[in-house]
Amino acid sequence: MMIQGSIGLMRILLVDDVQSERMYLAVRLKQLGHTVAMAKSGIEALEIYPEFEPDVVLLDISMPEMDGFEVSKKIRQTYSEWVPIIFLSSYDEPSIIATAIEAGGDDYLIKPVDKIVLDSKLMAMQRIAAMRRALEQKTAELAIANKELERLAQEDGLTKVKNRRFIDMKLREMIATYGRLQLPMSVIMLDVDKFKLFNDSYGHVEGDKCLIAIARMLSELFSRRGEVVGRFGGEEFVVLSTHQTKEQLIRDAERIKSCLESLRIVHDFSDVSNLVTVSQGLLHFKPSDNEVTDKVYQCVDKALYHAKLLGRNRYYLADE
Ligand code: GH3
Ligand code: MG
Ligand code: MG
Repeated sequence: MMIQGSIGLMRILLVDDVQSERMYLAVRLKQLGHTVAMAKSGIEALEIYPEFEPDVVLLDISMPEMDGFEVSKKIRQTYSEWVPIIFLSSYDEPSIIATAIEAGGDDYLIKPVDKIVLDSKLMAMQRIAAMRRALEQKTAELAIANKELERLAQEDGLTKVKNRRFIDMKLREMIATYGRLQLPMSVIMLDVDKFKLFNDSYGHVEGDKCLIAIARMLSELFSRRGEVVGRFGGEEFVVLSTHQTKEQLIRDAERIKSCLESLRIVHDFSDVSNLVTVSQGLLHFKPSDNEVTDKVYQCVDKALYHAKLLGRNRYYLADE
């Protein structure tokens, strides 16, 4: 960051309707090495501004057609990025200086402008501009870091699918939205069969790998807009989605079953299959006004329990 010492080179837009005034300053500024663009009216200044992209504007006040105040206001209204504007005028009344600052000016120099004072003012503006750029950079970095934090706050650490907190929030949101639209939505709650035996037999690390593989499979299956995969806890996962019909939901349950089969995660100690399987509770419903997440979970959990009772490695569709 260049905020101290010498004055760096700048792109300066010099606006004055009097040619001799323009030339006097332009010569001085160019001598110092700055790049100078000149405008002889407010309208011309506004035309040049976007293509020249000045670092600072030196703006005369009294000009025919459009005065400096109006030019300054237009610049401030049109462009969000701050560029210092220094007014130049032979008026020295306090009220005019105040008007200039109100119009968006950052400083005010009284003509004839002393060259040394001008250099110093430019240096001061450049310092502020550099600090502002540094601040913008930091703000941008912070925004990226915040986004990352937000993602982490929604994520399950082990499996990288959404965590319970996010799923709860999303379910609440979907209930509200679909309730209002009077459209159906669906929930799948799935639980790995005989997973305690899997852990006891193959170890916790293999157990973790199994959960990660199932989570990835689910994420790949349900990656469309409106579909959410989360870890409900332990070896239980939730899929939230929207289906027009129960048949579509059942097709998804069957896809989960066959995709898991094709992963072929061996579970020799399960009496359900020699591969890892899951049981699924399914719920297809149109949320009512007073629907709450607890009731939805209860309902889909009961369906899951039925799937377990009926022999596991299957789905059970809850009554609405
Ligand atoms: P069921 O077929 O009835 O579902 O039997 P189950 O053994 O799968 O069910 P149970 O609830 O008795 O056991 C769940 C097991 O899941 C117990 C626990 O050790 C394991 N588990 C939960 N979270 C994790 C985890 O993050 N990593 C590993 N490796 N295991 C986990
Ligand atoms: Mg289980
Ligand atoms: Mg369980």
